Amino acid sequence: MRAAVVHEFGAPLAIEDIEKPEPGPGEVVVKIETSGLCHTDVHAACGDWPVKPGLPFVPGHEGVGLVERVGAGVSRLSEGDRVAVPWLGWACGACEACASGWESLCPHAKYTGYTVNGGFADYTVADASFAGLVPGTVDPLDAAPLTCAGVTTYKAVKVSGAGPSDLVAVVGIGGLGHLAVQYAKIAGATVVAIDVVDSKLEMARQLGAAHTINASTQDPIAELQALGGADAAIVLAATPQAAEQALAGLRRNGQLVLVGLPKDNTMKLPIFETVLMGKKIVGSLVGTRVDLAETFELHADGRTKIVRESRQLEQVNESMDEVLSGTVDARLVFDLR
Ligand code: ZN
Ligand code: ZN
Repeated sequence: MRAAVVHEFGAPLAIEDIEKPEPGPGEVVVKIETSGLCHTDVHAACGDWPVKPGLPFVPGHEGVGLVERVGAGVSRLSEGDRVAVPWLGWACGACEACASGWESLCPHAKYTGYTVNGGFADYTVADASFAGLVPGTVDPLDAAPLTCAGVTTYKAVKVSGAGPSDLVAVVGIGGLGHLAVQYAKIAGATVVAIDVVDSKLEMARQLGAAHTINASTQDPIAELQALGGADAAIVLAATPQAAEQALAGLRRNGQLVLVGLPKDNTMKLPIFETVLMGKKIVGSLVGTRVDLAETFELHADGRTKIVRESRQLEQVNESMDEVLSGTVDARLVFDLR
């Protein structure tokens, strides 16, 4: 089967023929239809983060496809079911994080396209309990971005506590940001979109943002404070500076939700202002299986819109360059059909 394989960090991915996986007990083999390209895949392929994937590996944690084979002991899924294979490939179910409803923070978790092979291939193997069922009315090209960008921002909005009277800043409008704007709107909040590209800000407006700030020509801190300060800021842009500005743009008792993972790991945190203004800072990592199911439910109900462009898997390296250059408005999705 065809797969995009990382052999060396920072080197181009190789499109090659590798062995098709077999389903072990509790697993399914999925014939991939679509597979979204997340910024995380670029970081994974470059070995940018402190914990690196084992080489060689197949990236991709937005794979969507049809169950082709079912392993021993699987009753939840059947052949022909359309499933999504998310970042959270498996969690132990027994640790404190899992038992308290935070399986996404399981220290024993397997991460699709990072610690286990992912969806940049004609087939992938998934744990049957962690593959998300995709409602029949959801287009596979939409289902792919929902599998990471969707669930991650849906969860981040939940974590932010955004409600009807809140001003929520979404920092970084792209694959994740365009969905964060919509989930914050669904939560009832007034949304401020922040980016450095005007076309992305225009997209955010069309998706419901009431205000936009271009951080390359305007001061996001002053602009946010002029609006009264943000009750919550969700930082998807992968730069420490974006997080620092968002923190400074919070109102009293406001909450900073960190999601984007920059190569440069450290932000400046002014203790004095944080204490005096009672600011809160929290990290948010993907979401649980329930969050993923709710993300699909909202889309099936017509309440979210996915902005995406299709690419062929053979274009994986050019597509990663496109993501890095910031020229893509939202999500690139490989169509493997
Ligand atoms: Zn992702
Ligand atoms: Zn666990």
